[in-house]
Amino acid sequence: MKPETLAIHGGQSPEPVTGAVMPPVFQTSTYAQKGVAKHTGYEYARTQNPTREKLEAAMASLEGGTDGVSFGSGCAATSAIQHMLDAGDRVVSGDDIYGGTWRLFTKVFARQGVHYDFVDFTRVAPEDAIPEGTKLVWLESPTNPLLKVADIRALSARAKQIGALVVVDNTFATPIFQRPLELGADMVLHSTTKYIGGHSDVVGGTVVTGDPKLAEDLRFIQNSVGAVPGPWDTWLTLRGIKTLAVRMQRHQENARALVDWLLAHDRIARVWYPTHESHPHYAVATSQMSGFGGMVSFELDADLATAERFCESTRLFTLAESLGGVESLIELPAAMTHASVPPEVRAEIGIADGLVRASVGIEHIDDLVEDIDQALARAFG
Ligand SMILES: *Cc1c(COP(=O)(O)O)cnc(C)c1O
Repeated sequence: MKPETLAIHGGQSPEPVTGAVMPPVFQTSTYAQKGVAKHTGYEYARTQNPTREKLEAAMASLEGGTDGVSFGSGCAATSAIQHMLDAGDRVVSGDDIYGGTWRLFTKVFARQGVHYDFVDFTRVAPEDAIPEGTKLVWLESPTNPLLKVADIRALSARAKQIGALVVVDNTFATPIFQRPLELGADMVLHSTTKYIGGHSDVVGGTVVTGDPKLAEDLRFIQNSVGAVPGPWDTWLTLRGIKTLAVRMQRHQENARALVDWLLAHDRIARVWYPTHESHPHYAVATSQMSGFGGMVSFELDADLATAERFCESTRLFTLAESLGGVESLIELPAAMTHASVPPEVRAEIGIADGLVRASVGIEHIDDLVEDIDQALARAFG
């Protein structure tokens, strides 16, 4: 089945007792047993919950895996994968990963003896980026905020050669546009808080794999560590998934139109959108992605104060962190999401003071363009 169909039917069937088309919210902590140690497959809600299982099945089917394992947030899902490691294990990670992931690696799991190295996978050859002895490779592609694209096929092939596992954080592209398991990755991670949920009203995370041993390990950790999502949150996320394909198509349409408009504007120095011809990684992006969503970064030909004025002048684009909801958001990485990155490091990786990151929503494009236009006029006075 195609992604548009999977988003609605993947892993989903009517509830067996009543025929309810949407799964009920099983708001229970435990389940009655028919006799001593004779249960229905459901014992305790940290271990099994039917609403959560529906979400996990939907995510597995969208990513082309066999198992989805859901958690209370994207960071909890990231942690679950780190819990599969032992002290002394070596992880190679992209160098511009999500800030919360970087914090988990360097400030939590490094203290427990896991060793992390950070490389720019778009510049270093796979053999050099992933040395012998690596246990896990952590890829985020496209990255945030410059939307850099790593070659998932080549990096997965190298990892396989030396027996390392590959995880791809697919939060930005979503399975509508990129399916890392088909490109050779072992696990795919989502902050379902973003496009998967899609309405900025629920936090969650899911890991998908097609490997039975990894699935078993992830389930063991889900139950042992216990960072499970609540039944209402899994239900809301499932509700969001139903419209994932149409939302992503509209995000893409709007983003592409905005990119073309920005490229023609004389106050805009640069624009980044991975599947647009102007992006430096266009070739690899289009070899592994069938499209891209609403994330657009652009650099104003301006100093920080002007960029701040621009971000404070939009009316439809809400000034906020996060991304992936139906409403358009805008933020200034140098002063917001990436403020904790030292200025000289920001300059080195290309995060200029005038760099703006937009999460383009699904409003009408004319209104969005008009909003950006008037904010530019106000910022540049
Ligand atoms: C938001 C995000 C995360 C973390 O997810 P939470 O649900 O906020 O815990 C991880 N990776 C990426 C790319 C994200 O955007």
